[in-house]
Amino acid sequence: MAGEKTVLVVGGGISGITAALEAAEAGCKAVLVEKEPYLGGRVARMNKYFPKLCPPTCGLEINFRRLRRNPDITVHTLATVETITGSPGSYTATIKMLPRYVEDRAATSKCVDDCPVEIPNDFNYGMDKVQAVRLPYAMAYPMHLVADGDALKKAQGSPEFNAFVESCASKGIQINLDAKPETFQVTAASVVWATGWRPYDATKLDKLGFGKYPNVITNVMMERLASANGPTKGAILRPSDGRKVNNLAFVQCAGSRDENHLPYCSSICCLASLKQATYLRDYNPDAQAHIFYIDLRAHGRFEFFYDRVRNDEKILLTKGKIVHITEDPVTKDVILEGEDILSGSKIRRTFDMAVLATGMQPNTSLEKVPAPGVSYDEFGFVVSDEGIHATGVTKRPMDVGTCLQDATGAALKALQDTVGR
Ligand SMILES: Cc1cc2nc3c(=O)[nH]c(=O)nc-3n(C[C@H](O)[C@H](O)[C@H](O)COP(=O)(O)OP(=O)(O)OC[C@H]3O[C@@H](n4cnc5c(N)ncnc54)[C@H](O)[C@@H]3O)c2cc1C
Repeated sequence: MAGEKTVLVVGGGISGITAALEAAEAGCKAVLVEKEPYLGGRVARMNKYFPKLCPPTCGLEINFRRLRRNPDITVHTLATVETITGSPGSYTATIKMLPRYVEDRAATSKCVDDCPVEIPNDFNYGMDKVQAVRLPYAMAYPMHLVADGDALKKAQGSPEFNAFVESCASKGIQINLDAKPETFQVTAASVVWATGWRPYDATKLDKLGFGKYPNVITNVMMERLASANGPTKGAILRPSDGRKVNNLAFVQCAGSRDENHLPYCSSICCLASLKQATYLRDYNPDAQAHIFYIDLRAHGRFEFFYDRVRNDEKILLTKGKIVHITEDPVTKDVILEGEDILSGSKIRRTFDMAVLATGMQPNTSLEKVPAPGVSYDEFGFVVSDEGIHATGVTKRPMDVGTCLQDATGAALKALQDTVGR
């Protein structure tokens, strides 16, 4: 499959999509490999983008349109790369593709509301449940159903399951639990690695109460909570009792710039919390948001966004390090303790809910590129630039605008491999 004028792009987030599009629009063929059943990466799970506060689906949709009309890009979802051999100009990758277990022959993708099996909703970071046969999300690309084969196999043979399979068949949807993973090879002149990031595991921050107290959540969960297609349809409600949040705390550098966790700054968390404070204020104009930070970092033109948000008198900023979060066992309110850095006094404040601003950890810190010759820094970001080209958050923490520029640069490097340097 494919060949010498082909660029293989691994990771279908905003960086990988951009690299594949730019390479293909410059005359190459691109093969885009994504492990989830949909493209878009972490951005697809966001409510709005800073600084413009527009919905990410707008930006993604423009790119999905470019993908749809470009016959030179092949997209493989539910796919990962097992090995890569070769060198610039001539690589061979072995790709493993997991089954979707469901085929929608009549393109009636939305008609699966009667699936009797529910699973935790990974798209919403486990905050609700979803049917085991589903569209990954309303604007998913590709717009194909996917099924959790393991969950369905447990229900196989029950009358409810049989009735569901029959109802699917009547709508042109075939469930096939015997489907098996497939392995195939792609040859390419160049490889771009864009597998991005995962949120730092907040359960490791044992003093901050995540996983212990329901009203301590993380910043990626806050994106879903505020989203119209999230677990509460955009209502910012406390997980413990579904009450409207009136008084919300943001804990900056939760695990970041901390040598026991992520020693580096993820560069976007301050902006993300400023943005999320506006979600609360838009949803509930009486509510107050309080951001506790060590340093507020809003580089370059993001300074204007910071200025705009801090003009809101109900968004409070305290230079203070929060070291401990506990819970009032009766009200389930969260109690934050720490130090006010400017006055030197102790902080002890009670809030309805707290958001931990956790940083971005590169996926390559845990899953290396399956090819020789790739080198990493001490945090797992890819640093080598010869041979396989890394882009986006695989290289360092970046906002979306910077990813677009970086991925365009990676596409140029990849094109150079296709013509020989
Ligand atoms: C809380 C929060 C809010 C943010 N808000 C904003 C904002 O408002 N504005 C802004 O500009 N930036 C924002 N960011 C930053 C933004 O999320 C990143 O810039 C962006 O996600 C980086 O895109 P990426 O494609 O490099 O990585 P990702 O989005 O992580 O995409 C990587 C893709 O690779 C796939 N993948 C992973 N491993 C494999 C594998 N082994 N094989 C195949 N595929 C794989 C993943 O499934 C994913 O689709 C925010 C970040 C956080 C933490």
